[in-house]
Amino acid sequence: VEVEYHEEIYRLMTTDGLTQLNNKRYFDEMLDREVARAKRYKRSFSLLVFDIDHFKKINDRFGHLAGDTILRQLGAVLLGRLRVNDVLARIGGEEFALITPEVGVDGAKELAGKINRLISDTRFDFDGTRVDVTVSVGVAEWQAHYEDPSDVYKAADEKMYEAKRTGRGRSVLFTS
Ligand code: GH3
Ligand code: MG
Ligand code: MG
Repeated sequence: VEVEYHEEIYRLMTTDGLTQLNNKRYFDEMLDREVARAKRYKRSFSLLVFDIDHFKKINDRFGHLAGDTILRQLGAVLLGRLRVNDVLARIGGEEFALITPEVGVDGAKELAGKINRLISDTRFDFDGTRVDVTVSVGVAEWQAHYEDPSDVYKAADEKMYEAKRTGRGRSVLFTS
């Protein structure tokens, strides 16, 4: 009972209540773990950071409840497509991150494109009204000279903003 209780507390602490995805706390823990693994065993991983485009407009046009529904649908759609070792988290309001162990730049780029297509092809709807959703994705692979998790996070995040600036609904890859 004691163990189950602690497991349930941990689950609650690491889960996002709205989408039931992992939350920022869990993401930070997993990113730390992945960085430690990459350094110790000279392994690699990639990080994708993505953010819903013009989400404020979706809220303004269809209401906050519609926005919440979209966030939940998006989480469910993505979860169905991931590999067992992938870590998907909601790390902010309409911002998500995906850690993909053992995936290098080429695989990560392909995956980012898949996410763009999957989201734009999905029929999101709220109360029978179709809502068009796209995401901007930033991609970065862990580099041997990086020191801590924020290095790879910053690289992916900057590329996500570049995807926003250069048209949205697309992905941009960090290249060293
Ligand atoms: P951009 O394409 O540049 O990302 O534009 P944006 O409108 O998506 O970005 P902005 O940061 O201006 O707005 C994000 C909006 O997301 C504002 C905020 O109200 C909304 N939001 C954040 N968290 C939630 C949530 O949990 N539910 C709902 N419905 N809306 C949320
Ligand atoms: Mg946004
Ligand atoms: Mg945002």
